Amino acid sequence: MSSVNASGDGPGTQTPTPPLDPLDQGAVQAAVAQALDAIGHAASVTDLQTARRDFQGEQSPLTQANHAIKLLPKDQRAAAGKLVGQARGRVAQALKQREAELQAEEAQRRLATETVDVTLPTARLTEGARHPLELLQERIADIFTALGWEVAEGPEVEAEWFDFDALNFGPDHPARQMQDTFFIDPPGSHLVLRTHTSPVQARALLSRGVPVYVVVPGKVFRKDELDATHTPVFHQVEGLAVDKGLTMAHLRGTLDHLATTMFGEGVHTRLRPSYFPFTEPSAEVDVLCFVCKGHDPHCHTCGGSGWIEWGGCGMVHPNVLIACGVDPLEYQGFAFGMGIERTAMFRHGITDMHDMVEGDLRFSRRYGMEI
Ligand SMILES: [Zn+2]
Repeated sequence: MSSVNASGDGPGTQTPTPPLDPLDQGAVQAAVAQALDAIGHAASVTDLQTARRDFQGEQSPLTQANHAIKLLPKDQRAAAGKLVGQARGRVAQALKQREAELQAEEAQRRLATETVDVTLPTARLTEGARHPLELLQERIADIFTALGWEVAEGPEVEAEWFDFDALNFGPDHPARQMQDTFFIDPPGSHLVLRTHTSPVQARALLSRGVPVYVVVPGKVFRKDELDATHTPVFHQVEGLAVDKGLTMAHLRGTLDHLATTMFGEGVHTRLRPSYFPFTEPSAEVDVLCFVCKGHDPHCHTCGGSGWIEWGGCGMVHPNVLIACGVDPLEYQGFAFGMGIERTAMFRHGITDMHDMVEGDLRFSRRYGMEI
């Protein structure tokens, strides 16, 4: 018993205590209580290492008591072994439990300090977004290039002859009036901001000859006030096909293909008789409501009619072909035009034109970043 040394051997240990008697139940329990208290108060892994050395190490009272058992008379060893063994087991269990707790706290603390706050503002420049009107124009052009058509372009400042005369507008046609059309100064320049993409029909016929299949997306200008459904600058897509033997059936098939590709399977078009100077016969194009397919009298998209007004079309007027040096007895053609804004508005449920012209990125981003 005299060899039992209850004192620790390092800093932070208790004051020396008398050697622990392995048969003294009260002393053993006091040693356990002291160990559990120190272990429970260990605030860090380092503290716990100190407690482990003090209460489980070679010089700790319980370890020393354990060594002292073999010095006891044989008949006392079993009782002492049981008492000290249970005491050491409780200390070991407490150490193990506190170690797990401290490790968990440590991991938690590290996670907290190393967290990246992804919501903090950064100095990075925000990415732009392509405007939905641009995307839609390209998508329509893609549909036609897939059919073997070409994309054609023309100037936005256009000769009055291409915008009106070549397209069979008479000298007194109301579209030529100042209240509808932006004329370029000086008044005798005979230049206008093009009022439609149709002048590119004449340009394509003159520059490419026949047969010709072109699609023309582009910007056009009319003297309209900006409001929820009008804008003085808007976009159209024009199609022109001139070849031998083309009929209204080819026109109708082309429009139905465009409608199906744009709005989904089962969406087709209907034609209503109309008048344009540069086509004969002429027709308004309606597209079957892609939301209700004509089955909902309360549909918001089509107003319950089942049809949405989409654009205009017709067979190219012989006078247009003649103006471009093409023999109308040999070649026939069809043409059509749609408003891109209008198409985007009912395709995406946009209700106010202002959203499309104000250039707010929050609006454009909704349509994705496709290139
Ligand atoms: Zn509808």
